[in-house]
Amino acid sequence: MSYEGVKYQIIIRDRSLPADARIEALRKWCQIFHEKDLAPLYPGGTHGNMSFRLEPGKPGIVITAASSSFAEPLSDDSFFTIWDVDFENNLVIASGENNREPSSETLLHFSIYQARPDVQAILHGHCVSISNYSGQMNIPTTSEFVESGTMKIVKSVLEVLGNHSFIEIKDHGFISMGKTIEDAGELAMGMLGRSAII
Ligand SMILES: [Zn+2]
Repeated sequence: MSYEGVKYQIIIRDRSLPADARIEALRKWCQIFHEKDLAPLYPGGTHGNMSFRLEPGKPGIVITAASSSFAEPLSDDSFFTIWDVDFENNLVIASGENNREPSSETLLHFSIYQARPDVQAILHGHCVSISNYSGQMNIPTTSEFVESGTMKIVKSVLEVLGNHSFIEIKDHGFISMGKTIEDAGELAMGMLGRSAII
């Protein structure tokens, strides 16, 4: 598993932290993903990231910060608001704590929300069991391994996204989507349960 460093430029518009009630739900699911080993720890953080859309039809999202450990409840500065992404110039316009950075997969989350107006929440995790049995479970899977945090991974996911709610990123992890954070979380738990009995 490679280091998921941030590979885009960030413009921090202001230091205000998101104050949306749904942050509690993100915290809860970060904890559940940690407990169920859906987001393994590495030195300095957790392999996983989560987001929700602020308002249907608008670009703004809230996403977990890079180098967040899901082993403890996430601190208030572990969340960023992403207002917009300038894909041509690889720029992310955000609000959040200056000493942190938004998730390395911000471009991926933002692109999925753009492509899928119905999706209001995205949970990304890494699970050996789901990966091993994604074929038997007929989970749409990207065609080849590509480096995380890049536009290549964004393109590979958009290629297979369609109207699916659950995607496997080849040799990497999964993306669970829903109309709510709860829906996306329950979907991932269901997939974990199914993979455990194959
Ligand atoms: Zn990942």
